[in-house]
Amino acid sequence: MIEIKGLHKYFGDLHVLKGIDLNVAKGEVLSVIGSSGSGKSTLLYCINGLEEIQKGAVIVDGVDVHAKGTDVNKLRQNLGMVFQQWNSFPHLTALENVALAPQIVKKHSKTDALEIAAKQLKHVGLGDKLNVYPNSLSGGQQQRLAIARALAMEPEYMLFDEATSALDPELVGEVLETMRMLAEEGMTMICVTHEMGFARDVSDRVAYFHQGIMEEIGPPEQIFGEAQSEHTRKFLANVR
Ligand code: ADP
Ligand code: MG
Repeated sequence: MIEIKGLHKYFGDLHVLKGIDLNVAKGEVLSVIGSSGSGKSTLLYCINGLEEIQKGAVIVDGVDVHAKGTDVNKLRQNLGMVFQQWNSFPHLTALENVALAPQIVKKHSKTDALEIAAKQLKHVGLGDKLNVYPNSLSGGQQQRLAIARALAMEPEYMLFDEATSALDPELVGEVLETMRMLAEEGMTMICVTHEMGFARDVSDRVAYFHQGIMEEIGPPEQIFGEAQSEHTRKFLANVR
């Protein structure tokens, strides 16, 4: 599981995360919502060790992410990450893009890596695009390629940072469907999202962030039905 204890993050004088306490259990799907600048992306980067922290701890499967001596590269193999936009290698096919990290990072043979890549591309519905170059994929297909690339490392956790925010509206659905499928398969997921339908229908819990504080967390029925915090209610009134 992921345990976040009293996490504080500063960028210089800017206090971006102000004491976050949060546990995410195996198999859980957590959606993180909140205004731009509330610290959602920073939280994800602190979880996978892309950002240093100033106070508190992040513990993944018992390993302190920010402790000296922690092998962050090894840890990150277990935490797949999908960003708003993922720039794939244009000179490599979809299959080669996905097979790259299993070969380089996991030291799989090329044959094995290509097999893993084909399996994951099929998994995300790109079985007919194995030999296509990324530039001829739609935005939605490129995001599914990014998901396949993360899955090819066989992570136990997936972190999504607004995976659909850069997409044309008509392409959002296919990516959300892929995320929903992973959730149904039991993947542990933290999804920073502006898609309130997804947050409501797919998540086990929803966390609302406001100015670096996790103002409220609870099951979707609570957050969307009877939010305790005025900030949460205001935010939801504006995004709907
Ligand atoms: P969100 O993802 O919720 O929009 P972020 O986590 O990206 O918010 O940012 C939280 C705050 O931290 C913002 O005020 C942002 O400008 C600031 N911030 C984010 N990354 C950096 C950075 N690398 N250096 C300085 N400030 C940053
Ligand atoms: Mg962000």
